Amino acid sequence: MFNWLSNIFGKKNENKQLNNFDSSIHFDKPKCINCLNCVRSCAKYSVTFLETQKDSSNQKIYPISSPNSKKDCIYCGQCTSHCPTGAFSEVENILDVKKAIADKSKVVVFQFAPSIRVSIGEEFNLPHGQVVTDQLAQAIRELGVDYVFDTSVGADFTTNEEAKEMIEKISSGKCQILFSSCCPSWVKFVEFYYPEYIPNIATARSPQMILAGLIKTYWAKQKSIDAKVIVNVSVMPCTSKKYEILRPENKVDGVQMIDYVITTRELAKMLKEKSIDIAKITPKPADNPLGEPSGAGVIYGASGGVMESALRTAYCKMTGKCLKNIEFTQVRGMQGIKVAEININSKKIRVAVVNTIPNAKKILAELKQNPSAYSCVEVMACPGGCVGGGGQPKPVNDQIIQKRIEALYKIDKDKKVRIASENPILKQIYKEFLKDDAIIKKICHTSYSKKAKEVK
Ligand code: SF4
Repeated sequence: MFNWLSNIFGKKNENKQLNNFDSSIHFDKPKCINCLNCVRSCAKYSVTFLETQKDSSNQKIYPISSPNSKKDCIYCGQCTSHCPTGAFSEVENILDVKKAIADKSKVVVFQFAPSIRVSIGEEFNLPHGQVVTDQLAQAIRELGVDYVFDTSVGADFTTNEEAKEMIEKISSGKCQILFSSCCPSWVKFVEFYYPEYIPNIATARSPQMILAGLIKTYWAKQKSIDAKVIVNVSVMPCTSKKYEILRPENKVDGVQMIDYVITTRELAKMLKEKSIDIAKITPKPADNPLGEPSGAGVIYGASGGVMESALRTAYCKMTGKCLKNIEFTQVRGMQGIKVAEININSKKIRVAVVNTIPNAKKILAELKQNPSAYSCVEVMACPGGCVGGGGQPKPVNDQIIQKRIEALYKIDKDKKVRIASENPILKQIYKEFLKDDAIIKKICHTSYSKKAKEVK
């Protein structure tokens, strides 16, 4: 699985044209124009995994992963977002997905992440931040897909479970930090670089993983479909999500829940190949029952969205006041670190919201000095959160990310239900299916472990 070819640009592999970073990212050397945007992005947003080296003729400087480096890639894909030629790009799964769609013995189910609805329009010449939720669902159907669900519904379940963990930590009065868990690059960062904090990561599975588990269990049973014929495909803003689905910890009863992840860019490529234009399509919403999220599920795509969603549900559960318009605007925005003190039932909760790994390092350094500095910390690896993810349309900059963020909060504002735990479908599924701790643990929770270097 982690078949990384060491020293990708060194003498050893000089003739290699294509090199994979496990299942997520590849490098196509002939396309490299030596601009080194990849190396700079890796330093600015991530773990400085990529370095530079002169080639054998000592003429050109190339990006390199040094074989002696003690660092490991976290698959955030910021190198792919900032590479102007596509030399760094996601490992494509388009052919696998097309094959599944063409196979009439399969039931192909797509889900699309919160941030895609405000970014994919850019691939079809729509303005930055244009909301295309229902156009997106219909465009996916026109590829020949059988069912289309919304990952934001999965986010409502993640929130509900994470809020329970948050309440437990707050109520215990012990100084324990709870870290968010839905960004696989952040999780990999902790597992590899700071394993001492593994017990502090929320065990709630990420939105795509919970939704996929529900599709292959609850929904399959409802529809009398054999789970074995379901092919789950996720459209994600993210290269790291390709890695997340293969993590052994994310299997349910030994079965991989998501078959393929494609990025926003891959989906746009598939649609363009079939001349399906999101800008012109007649909109039709995602399918029921897993197609109608709360507003809290949608804001997951922005930095601060996971924290605000969890706080809304925690407030509702702790006070019994589930106010429709409850907002925690202190945690919104593009700043690298946002800090807020929230008062719930006379308990003061200090929270931090972090985007990009260099800022996460700062927070971890602060926590080493003062372990009770924060109760809850959200970390997303990409700038601005998943709206700035490594699989999103290019080019990208802070202004474009800001437009995408504003669009997500506008969707939230217009939603009838804005608290995850108040979503009627969530309540129904807990009543009918997620009835006891054992099944909740199986479908909604995962585990973590110290990781050795994977990309060698
Ligand atoms: Fe993926 Fe979002 Fe994390 Fe970026 S911030 S690596 S897009 S989950």
